[in-house]
Amino acid sequence: AHLDRVAAVDGQLKAFLHIDRDAVLAQARSIDERRAAGEKLGPLAGVPVAHKDVFTTTDMPTTAGSKILEGWRPPYDATITRRLREAGLVILGKTNMDEFAMGSSTENSAFGPSHNPWDLGRIPGGSSGGSSAAVAGYEAPLSTGTDTGGSIRQPASVTGIVGAKPTYGGSSRYGVIAFASSLDTPGPFARNVLDAALLHEAFSGHDPMDSTSVPEAVPPVVEAARRADVNGLRVGVVKEFAGEGGQAGVHARFNETVELLESLGAKVVEVSCPNFEYALHAYYLIAPSEASSNLARFDAMRYGLRVGDDGTRSAEEVMALTRAEGFGPEVKRRIMLGTYALSSGYYDAYYGKAQQVRTLIKRDFDRAFEQVDVLVSPTTPTTAFPIGERADDPMAMYLADLWTIPANLTGNPAISVPCGLADEDGLPVGLQVMAPVLADDRVYRVGAAVE
Ligand code: GLN
Repeated sequence: AHLDRVAAVDGQLKAFLHIDRDAVLAQARSIDERRAAGEKLGPLAGVPVAHKDVFTTTDMPTTAGSKILEGWRPPYDATITRRLREAGLVILGKTNMDEFAMGSSTENSAFGPSHNPWDLGRIPGGSSGGSSAAVAGYEAPLSTGTDTGGSIRQPASVTGIVGAKPTYGGSSRYGVIAFASSLDTPGPFARNVLDAALLHEAFSGHDPMDSTSVPEAVPPVVEAARRADVNGLRVGVVKEFAGEGGQAGVHARFNETVELLESLGAKVVEVSCPNFEYALHAYYLIAPSEASSNLARFDAMRYGLRVGDDGTRSAEEVMALTRAEGFGPEVKRRIMLGTYALSSGYYDAYYGKAQQVRTLIKRDFDRAFEQVDVLVSPTTPTTAFPIGERADDPMAMYLADLWTIPANLTGNPAISVPCGLADEDGLPVGLQVMAPVLADDRVYRVGAAVE
């Protein structure tokens, strides 16, 4: 049924970069065989899942939305890919994304943008926009994404679905093509909170292959999603994100949702996080710095594309030609920003300063969680914007993640759940719920109560 749906609508949504009908059916049959042979499969066995094209897959290409990985076949599966195969899920295909997960709209994909099922002229969010479009457009019931600055929560918000960023280190980065290693966090997309929790639980847990993987047990997110009650829970409204700065219809739906939480028995208080306003600035030094280092591995020798290797050029020349042709403009902008920020003489002023801001933001979170159990805000300042509107204005694009970035800088878990449609344009609005590190269950509990 999902393959038929993809055949019917993907020509318009362009959510998938790779899908192979026969391979999908073969996987489904092999799961039937495993079940018939008595193997005990997980609760999601047989359910299709679409993977953001940043997770390595041995049987499908993995491009990270970039031309530079053209033709590359990963020799290994990401831990998340492997765990979901073992649990008996069928990989439906690989979804479109901003190149190396840099962006908020999928317009930075080397393969063209994906489209929002609510309005094909609008963006499905990004960078995991193929994954959000696939689930919102009923092409897949579940998908995976990665969230470095908001790339799961923002696309979930603008397509009216659920997207969660686990605690940093709670989901494995092994086999996830790196953007900014201290921020990158894989997580689930689904059309309801319980489905997202089931996927979260299916792929999470300690991974010895990821040095930043946390050793603690996976928080009981499925139980929390089933519980779905907020009675007596202390909910903090982040003052700095709640009052203004976004579209009127976004704030209206957010305020109603806060009232709903109160009517369900939550104790709502306003909380100030004064350093959150510096998060975006710190992020655009830290993320490009780490990216400039991570992307050095694309040297024309190890992976994919190689340009100008005709026997007359040096390795350096081939590398320069390959990187010039293989990387898109946003990736180049980040590499230059990051290289500049890390260069000797500037390191203390930029990267060092940004890390200090990160500590201040962590203190804001710690203080807030002395008073409340969760924090809430709108997920993103506006509903889905038209394709092209911010494509030539990187600063306007960066603002999409204004309210999601703090949780990345500190590793806190967060979710986006739909909370109605904006009056101005009838497009979905998302509620963001943030919790203390390793209290992922709380964001599912609150999300399930309001959905
Ligand atoms: N939009 C942000 C950026 O471009 C965040 C991306 C992400 O979370 N991967 O960096």
